[in-house]
Amino acid sequence: MSVNRSIHPRFPGWEYQFCPKCGGKLELRQVKRGEPERLVCTACQFIFFLDPKVAAGVIFKLDGKIVLARRAIDPGYGMWVFPGGFIDPGETVEEAAIREAREEVNVEVELQGLVGVYSYSGVPIVVIVHAGELVGGELRAADECLEVRSFALDDLPWEDLAFSSIRDALGDYLRRYMGKTPPEIKEEF
Ligand SMILES: [Zn+2]
Repeated sequence: MSVNRSIHPRFPGWEYQFCPKCGGKLELRQVKRGEPERLVCTACQFIFFLDPKVAAGVIFKLDGKIVLARRAIDPGYGMWVFPGGFIDPGETVEEAAIREAREEVNVEVELQGLVGVYSYSGVPIVVIVHAGELVGGELRAADECLEVRSFALDDLPWEDLAFSSIRDALGDYLRRYMGKTPPEIKEEF
């Protein structure tokens, strides 16, 4: 039985064929009524649950302007993001946000509070975004970044943001931390 592409249409990498425990062939099977079909090993019966990935990001300012980086990798190549990335197993959300700022734009941040948690139907990624304060380092495009710069609050590149979560978190940050209203963005990402 082939793996049904419609389960994770945006994530072809999740079309696993073989059991990670024994190497047996996986097949889609209804394990529990009312739940999606699961990948089950035909040899050892291991159920390969596909969990969402969790990412951490941090929004912070330099001289009153928000720091964004332009991505040097796909998805979203050439588009703007604040520092962020997938959390490593065993790492806290906060540690990951701080690490990503260090790795991607070469600065040290301290976290101030949560901006929000972002998830979207059909997208198996949960993004947790903190507000941060710049406490050290020197801004420089590093890992996976083409360019880094800061944007005035009224001059954010709304049309050139890489992901819905970036747009939504920046909007919440402006509202909650800056007392500003973000512009209406109609474009769907
Ligand atoms: Zn197996």
